[in-house]
Amino acid sequence: MVKTRVAVNGYGTIGKRVADAISKQGDMQVVGVAKTKPDFGAALSVKKGFRLFAAACEHYQTFQKAGLQVSGVVEDMLSGCDVVVDCTPGGVGAKNKAVYEKAGVKAIFQGGEKHELVEASFVAEANYAEALGKKFVRVVSCNTTGLSRTIGYLNNSFGAKKVRATIVRRAADPGETKKGPINALMPDPAKIPSHHGPDVQTVIRDVPVVTAAMVASTTLMHLHLVNVELRLKASRDSVIECLSQSKRIKLVEAESGLDSTAALLEFARDLGRERGDMPEVAVWRDSVAVVDNEVYFMQAIHQESIVVPENVDAVRAISGSEREAARSIAITNKSLGLV
Ligand code: NAD
Repeated sequence: MVKTRVAVNGYGTIGKRVADAISKQGDMQVVGVAKTKPDFGAALSVKKGFRLFAAACEHYQTFQKAGLQVSGVVEDMLSGCDVVVDCTPGGVGAKNKAVYEKAGVKAIFQGGEKHELVEASFVAEANYAEALGKKFVRVVSCNTTGLSRTIGYLNNSFGAKKVRATIVRRAADPGETKKGPINALMPDPAKIPSHHGPDVQTVIRDVPVVTAAMVASTTLMHLHLVNVELRLKASRDSVIECLSQSKRIKLVEAESGLDSTAALLEFARDLGRERGDMPEVAVWRDSVAVVDNEVYFMQAIHQESIVVPENVDAVRAISGSEREAARSIAITNKSLGLV
């Protein structure tokens, strides 16, 4: 089998997880990872057997001084790949696009970049086919991915007339000590809609989605309160059955003790998940309620890992190595233990 050669530019929270996930795919190989700083992450990438590249010439020397084996700069990495997954901080990807164009390499960007940068925004279970054969695709942000998964399934089964969601966001990732500590709840932004609703509509175009967001002093997960007005009649059981179709939506019970984001991540660790990750959107079964033609529920998003399976599928879609969404999703799910 000819393997798709994948480079990962930006090896932080998302990049290190994407590189590990790609290396688990039988039809892909990681040709290298690139970073700006010779920190513990860079050293670990070499230990894991990834070829390490410097983001630019000036970084190359810092890596060498730190005694790290470095294989070249980003342009060298791109010359040996079919697809680059850009996992650099938001806004940096836009600057990198010209470099990828020059190298003639297809690129997948992350949710920190704008929809306008790419030809398609991507959530595998919602619009895989849209990314087929494209040159530039964006895997949407963690919150947008979670909303698109659940809204997408409800829309397919019952028709979603409109969606209202409130997003309680984690303030920072666990390792981001520079952003904390804080002791406040902060509207973010203090206007409605937040960008998340319009962002979902770059993936699911025919459903109006209005979101409001606030930041809370936690690092673990985001929490959404979602309300979907349905076109067809639905019962609580039929909604639960609908959401149960996806292995990327995990129905959990508060009653069983999974009653907080902390408990969910404890559960992920107990499951033996790598890094204690939970790439599924966790929907509290207890919270699902149908009132007239509206369904209400609560869901939690593990921001560090939810987009990882999406990036793997985006590689198959953009490279054209697998044209069937269901086949790619099944392979990815199995490789990441989403069963
Ligand atoms: P991060 O800061 O954890 O990692 C970014 C990495 O890129 C770091 O290793 C940094 O050294 C490196 N880098 C910086 N400039 C670079 C450059 N010019 N060339 C190559 N590498 C460079 O960031 P992250 O949280 O992994 O976010 C990456 C992207 O994923 C962003 O678009 C973000 O919005 C998106 N995203 C983040 C999360 C999250 O919660 N962390 C969730 C979903 C999507």
